[in-house]
Amino acid sequence: MVPHPTPLLARLTLLTLVASALVFGSSSAEADANIKRTARGKTIRWDRAILHVCLSDAARALPRIDEHLDAAMDVWNDTGVTPFFDRGGRSCEVEIDYGRGRVATTPLPLATSTLTYDRTTGEASLAEIVFDTRYAGQLGDAARNSSAYDIRGILVHELGHALGLDEDVLPGTAMTTTTGRGETIKRALAAADQRAIRRLYGPGAEATVAAARPTAE
Ligand SMILES: [Zn+2]
Repeated sequence: MVPHPTPLLARLTLLTLVASALVFGSSSAEADANIKRTARGKTIRWDRAILHVCLSDAARALPRIDEHLDAAMDVWNDTGVTPFFDRGGRSCEVEIDYGRGRVATTPLPLATSTLTYDRTTGEASLAEIVFDTRYAGQLGDAARNSSAYDIRGILVHELGHALGLDEDVLPGTAMTTTTGRGETIKRALAAADQRAIRRLYGPGAEATVAAARPTAE
């Protein structure tokens, strides 16, 4: 949570990443420009130029979802440094059960993202975004409806997680943990978001790391 001028429970909802619960490792000890250590300490290998995105059934039912997803993917694609997002035409296979405390946050997150990668090679293959159906009636186009949580901004945020970015404690960025009704600020990358993604993927990225030993998360 971050300081916010509006009452927390009434106006803010936590956006949370649920990381893929996989164990992975690598046999190579050589540095590899395609291996990235994410902000959350995961080591992911980007052998594919295109990272497919899928949405949960609940997300697919949201109004103008394809338009919002295309716009959100373009926000990251336009940086020119990340793996290119594409709608893969695959259905989500991840089921997140909010009711059993697997997502133990209060208030409940609007959406979560999961990055699937090969447990042996670390190769990333699919970014999956799941919206909590209990918020379905409160999600919309915040540019048109000031009482809605913004679908497009949430997608930008969750795709940022799929690329390896962590929550940002600073307000006003795409990766800021919380969002309010009517807020559209996450539709564009703030300077802090731009710096973070370039640290990970830009020329001479600091986050390029040698292949890790097998690690459990
Ligand atoms: Zn988040």
